Amino acid sequence: MKIKEEISLKPYNTFNISANARYYTELESTENIYEFIHEKKFQNIPQLILGGGSNILLTGNFDGIVLKNQLMGVRLIQETPEHYFIKASAGENWHRFVLYCIENNYAGLENLSLIPGCVGASPMQNIGAYGVEVKDLIHEVETIHLGSGQTQVFDNPSCKFDYRSSVFKTSYKNQFIITSVIFKLNKKPNYTITYGSIEEELDKMGIKELSIRAISDAVCRIRKSKLPNPSEIGNAGSFFKNPVVPIKIAEELKEHYPDIPIYTVNPTNCKLAAGWLIEKCGWKGKTIKNCGVHTKQALVLVNYGNASGKDILELANRIIASVKDTFHVELEKEVNII
Ligand SMILES: Cc1cc2nc3c(=O)[nH]c(=O)nc-3n(C[C@H](O)[C@H](O)[C@H](O)COP(=O)(O)OP(=O)(O)OC[C@H]3O[C@@H](n4cnc5c(N)ncnc54)[C@H](O)[C@@H]3O)c2cc1C
Repeated sequence: MKIKEEISLKPYNTFNISANARYYTELESTENIYEFIHEKKFQNIPQLILGGGSNILLTGNFDGIVLKNQLMGVRLIQETPEHYFIKASAGENWHRFVLYCIENNYAGLENLSLIPGCVGASPMQNIGAYGVEVKDLIHEVETIHLGSGQTQVFDNPSCKFDYRSSVFKTSYKNQFIITSVIFKLNKKPNYTITYGSIEEELDKMGIKELSIRAISDAVCRIRKSKLPNPSEIGNAGSFFKNPVVPIKIAEELKEHYPDIPIYTVNPTNCKLAAGWLIEKCGWKGKTIKNCGVHTKQALVLVNYGNASGKDILELANRIIASVKDTFHVELEKEVNII
């Protein structure tokens, strides 16, 4: 395990923020993790586990140690008449893993194509897109406790998955390093194409026979047309979660704003579209200093050049205050503020 000092984190975060880490190390094996845990020097300083850096905002230098997860490997570990159980190490690139599953006819992850980042972060916020959440495909999450060095396997219910949340983002935040994820994928595909413009895109592509590859291709085409590519404009995808509110509040808002999009979550709650609320407050396309709200998608904050993490955080807080003033609804940040 090599420890580097005063490393620039700019290449390691998709917001493209300039910030340094006091210490930095790459964990390539579980032995590296145990070695790190036994190194007393690093036990009482802040620790940041890093995957692809596509869901973090660095608001300054990190005065601790960054643990870059580089654990690699994917393999089929079990098969039943209906399912494949695939174990993927945490450092594997998410989209490459999805493509590998498609090539092998392991169905289920196709709607989650082209999400940046690593496998190990996927349970963290229960990634989701185009009507699918990864929680429905995760069987188990393997971890090591950073304090004790004990391995712990979380079955699906123990992960306490919720909308863009899990036990790893809430009560156990920063306590466990996820080393691998075991996915339970389908032999018989169960296509989800009614969400967003997937059907329309499949039509445009001239697809006559549905397949997991066709859905993945359609999702990639839609994402490329709507979302800024982080290698061109720094961003971390949706900066805010869609707020969940009691039905009564949603109905009151509907009286004032008849065109407000509302999605039923359960008999008592509804989800509002954060992007719609932000756009209605006039933020879409606005630029302040070197950052702004994306021109095509108001949920995405972007770094046009040399914005600092603090500039972006300030912009996010102004948006939250503005939405609260107008709609009396509190937006919550989806991105992890470091
Ligand atoms: C253009 C763009 C589009 C996006 N679209 C989507 C989308 O459609 N849906 C969606 O859900 N998200 C989306 N995201 C957000 C992001 O890609 C996902 O949340 C992704 O899972 C983050 O992975 P990462 O490896 O980059 O995590 P990082 O940003 O490196 O880390 C995120 C958090 O997870 C923790 N973490 C990372 N790895 C581990 C580990 N092995 N063990 C324990 N903790 C860990 C980190 O400490 C941090 O708190 C998008 C981002 C971008 C830039």
